[in-house]
Amino acid sequence: MLRFKNLGSGSAGNATLVEARDGQQVSRLLIDCGLRVSELRRRLQAAGLELSDLDGLFVTHEHSDHVGHTHRFAQETGLPVWMSEGTRLACQAELWGLPSGQLQTARDGVTFALGALALHPFTVPHDAREPLQLRCSDGDRSLGVLTDLGHASAHVVQALQGCHALLLEANHDVGMLSRSSYPAFLRQRIAGPLGHLSNVDAAALLQAVHHPGLSCVVAAHLSERNNTPSLAQAAFSAVLGCLAEDVLVADPQTGSDWHTA
Ligand SMILES: [Zn+2]
Ligand SMILES: [Zn+2]
Repeated sequence: MLRFKNLGSGSAGNATLVEARDGQQVSRLLIDCGLRVSELRRRLQAAGLELSDLDGLFVTHEHSDHVGHTHRFAQETGLPVWMSEGTRLACQAELWGLPSGQLQTARDGVTFALGALALHPFTVPHDAREPLQLRCSDGDRSLGVLTDLGHASAHVVQALQGCHALLLEANHDVGMLSRSSYPAFLRQRIAGPLGHLSNVDAAALLQAVHHPGLSCVVAAHLSERNNTPSLAQAAFSAVLGCLAEDVLVADPQTGSDWHTA
């Protein structure tokens, strides 16, 4: 069984828990550590888990809402941490003084295993040095975790084909962003090809990977200033053919419930 729970989503800090069960074996990966370790511990405990129940961390890219507290997490837990070579260089992880072997290199298109989890990183267009997002599988079901990208490249669409569940960025409403008080350079960065997905972009990507076996979609990484849950829900519901109020949205502070892929 493959299930996931977002623990917080957006510029205030990202963390998503992915769990696979295969008989007696349970494997848990944390994707991104943008929360303080004390806060991460608190949110894990609310889900009935401790830091010691985790088996590893995958860091998508060096922006602080994702890599933020990885150094401290790695020191406290001793768990393996995967990231791309570019992310490692960009966040100067070699200065963290971790034991050799704790930092593992993830590469686009190279699947690796963490217990019962098979993890398939793929490159995304985003203004970081070598950002990777992740497809997770228990060998039967697949979850695509995808935030922080400016547009849906053919490579991204390919990587998400056949997923049974998606945690998918719906960052901003184009109109709200254009009217926002953000400086022009920031609005251009967010809306640009290496920024973040708008609701419309995200819905188009959802349409491109939608199939009858896709049973769970959670909208994520919503801007608290340039989007609303109801706008993201409306965009996704048009593709999913459900009521807008039934579209799941990850809360910036509390994340989501457990969902099964
Ligand atoms: Zn982010
Ligand atoms: Zn980012």
